[in-house]
Amino acid sequence: MKAIQMVKPGSEPELREVDKPSPGPGEVLLKVTAAGACHSDDFVLNLPPEGFPYPLPLTLGHEGVGVVAELGSGVTTLTEGTAVAVYGPWGCGVCHFCSRGLENYCSNAAELQIAPPGLGAPGAMAEFMIVDDPRHLVPIGDLDPVTTVPLTDAGLTPYHAIKPSLPKLVGGTTAVVIGTGGLGHVAIQLLRHLTPSRVIALDVTPEKLDFAKEVGAHETVLSDADAVANIRKITGKDGATAVFDFVGYQPTIDTAMGAVGTMGDVTIVGLGDGQAAAKVGIWAQPYEVSVRAPYWGSRSELIEVLDLARDGALDVAVQTFGLDDGVDAYRKLAANDLRGRAVVVP
Ligand SMILES: [Zn+2]
Ligand SMILES: [Zn+2]
Repeated sequence: MKAIQMVKPGSEPELREVDKPSPGPGEVLLKVTAAGACHSDDFVLNLPPEGFPYPLPLTLGHEGVGVVAELGSGVTTLTEGTAVAVYGPWGCGVCHFCSRGLENYCSNAAELQIAPPGLGAPGAMAEFMIVDDPRHLVPIGDLDPVTTVPLTDAGLTPYHAIKPSLPKLVGGTTAVVIGTGGLGHVAIQLLRHLTPSRVIALDVTPEKLDFAKEVGAHETVLSDADAVANIRKITGKDGATAVFDFVGYQPTIDTAMGAVGTMGDVTIVGLGDGQAAAKVGIWAQPYEVSVRAPYWGSRSELIEVLDLARDGALDVAVQTFGLDDGVDAYRKLAANDLRGRAVVVP
């Protein structure tokens, strides 16, 4: 079968011919119907070769939707032909975090070498993929695979990031979204659907700001050196109640910390260069600001996000590519030349 694989750190992924996998005991084989490309793939592709964390070659794709093609022995909770979305942050299933559905924070995954598909285990950018356990699959019913697949990360991650701030996002408050790409443009829609807050979106080009308005932002501000002043012109002296940074480089984290108001939340979601950090101290920010850096989301939250999609609350912008031009999808992703999410349809 065909698969898009990372072969060498610092190089483009390649379309390669690999063996079709067959499911072992307890596993599920999916015929992939859609796979999403994510900025974190680009981050991984450009990691230095020294200490590279995953075995290579690695089939990419941590966002996957497919149809159950074959059940490994002992799997009784699914039937062949069911359309499912893959919950990506696989854990052990038995530790305290996993028991709460928070497999993204599994205590044992590192020790047991359990890795998400596309981020260690073979991913969804292929004709078929193995899912290690049926609990990592959520039936999608008649949802469209192409617009549903980004929800497994670009929907789940902002949902998990926003949820703890919901009690603070009451009428008259402001939520700021920095970065309007795959995750950010879904975050704007989630905030509009789940809160009465005014939503301000930040990005670096007027085109991206227009897009942010199209998906529901009330106001837009260019993400530049004047961003904090321009946000505060809108919020007044109270500042923002919650700022979600889907970029994560030092300038955007500084903008987030500068825009947040007393008792507000700053949530850093974007990977950036993996080095940037918020400075927190008694007078480094307004009083009682909370700073979080979450990762992905829980199993139950994926079910909630798919239910929101079923209610028509989310309209995910996608650009589709065949498996044969999936490498081009990664090129466009690296060049920041995408509107919404790149989805590969095998
Ligand atoms: Zn991702
Ligand atoms: Zn666990």
